[in-house]
Amino acid sequence: MKDSRYRFRRGKRSATFPGMRGTPGDMLDRRGNTGPVGQICELGIGAPVMVRVSRRARRMALRIDSVGGKVELVLPRGVPAGAGLRFLAAKREWIAARLAALPQPVPFVEGAFVPVLGVPHRIRHDRNSARPPVEIVDGEIRVGGDPAHLARRVRDHLVLTARVELAPRARRLAARIGRQASRITIRDTKSRWGSCSGQGNLSFSWRLILAPEPVLDYVVAHEVAHLVEMNHGTLFWQLVESLTPGSAAPRAWLRRHRNRLLSYG
Ligand SMILES: [Zn+2]
Repeated sequence: MKDSRYRFRRGKRSATFPGMRGTPGDMLDRRGNTGPVGQICELGIGAPVMVRVSRRARRMALRIDSVGGKVELVLPRGVPAGAGLRFLAAKREWIAARLAALPQPVPFVEGAFVPVLGVPHRIRHDRNSARPPVEIVDGEIRVGGDPAHLARRVRDHLVLTARVELAPRARRLAARIGRQASRITIRDTKSRWGSCSGQGNLSFSWRLILAPEPVLDYVVAHEVAHLVEMNHGTLFWQLVESLTPGSAAPRAWLRRHRNRLLSYG
């Protein structure tokens, strides 16, 4: 295969691709980690391959992007594309196994099980129009109205529920350390669970509502701690631990279940 089929563009930065190995906390809010810059190639390995040239990488590496089911090939600067292709070919089985192990998407449809605060709830279309459009009750997410809008209604309601759960937690924890969050927004971010801006604006992923409560508490504590410490230094982690003792377990949970959380909706 000829190299000319692949146009490499150097990545803007060589940050860890969201999703795989990394330092604790890097899934939360590492700035600018918006994904790879490069060329997507179809190489017949069952998934698109994104090639990224990294200044920092010492050796070739493969990563699986769970969101799009893509494979990312990281090439150190100066390594020819041919070597990358041979590397890909040698790792074919590994790639296939990793892709097969990714959680299957769980669309919001009648009968689907969706966790709310870590507890499985079954989506059920409810013809009783006297009820509110969406209700989370008795292990069910009951959705009224036109079934054509069911998925959107479920999602909107989960976003709303995430706000109801996350915003008061953030305000409470911020008050405990004498700070105030300027604005709290709920977003659908794939590469981070929360963020804290220099202006004190906090944002969280709505998908946190799917996770058990200690996970919400940890992410909120993490971002609130950034109102004081805009880094991931020792003082920062001490502050997180004082706001939510035993944060290692929810942190590990998030790393382990990231792909699962991203598979809903
Ligand atoms: Zn952070």
